Amino acid sequence: MTDQDYSPEFIDEMRQLLESKRAELVNRSKLARNELRDRDDSPGDSIDESNEEQGMSTELRLKDRDRYFLSNVNDALERIEDGDYGYCDVCYEPIGEGRLRARPTALLCIEHKEEAEREERRHHAKNPGMFSPVNRS
Ligand SMILES: [Zn+2]
Repeated sequence: MTDQDYSPEFIDEMRQLLESKRAELVNRSKLARNELRDRDDSPGDSIDESNEEQGMSTELRLKDRDRYFLSNVNDALERIEDGDYGYCDVCYEPIGEGRLRARPTALLCIEHKEEAEREERRHHAKNPGMFSPVNRS
């Protein structure tokens, strides 16, 4: 962490980016809550129940994803406060400005991100359906 350290300008840039992301997400979740409340105000006149259920689950899924992303954004902002933003969670090497610009909530360097994704794929590979990566020859 010597010559590869991030400049204060870069950290500032990332902080602004993350804060605007956070504002956007908070705003959106407020809107979603208002919509839910409006719906609750008019009970008993649902025309098509199955349609409403579908719309509901889409909305909840979206909110889950937003909530997950929001917690990542908050984590990143905390790291900025602590001064360890931009370093890999596993090897403590700098993640790199280019990668952080593309993905400001990144917690892992490319190497360890790829490793984590390989782990995840192995985890999900429990049903060997039509696709088998193993070449049994
Ligand atoms: Zn790493």
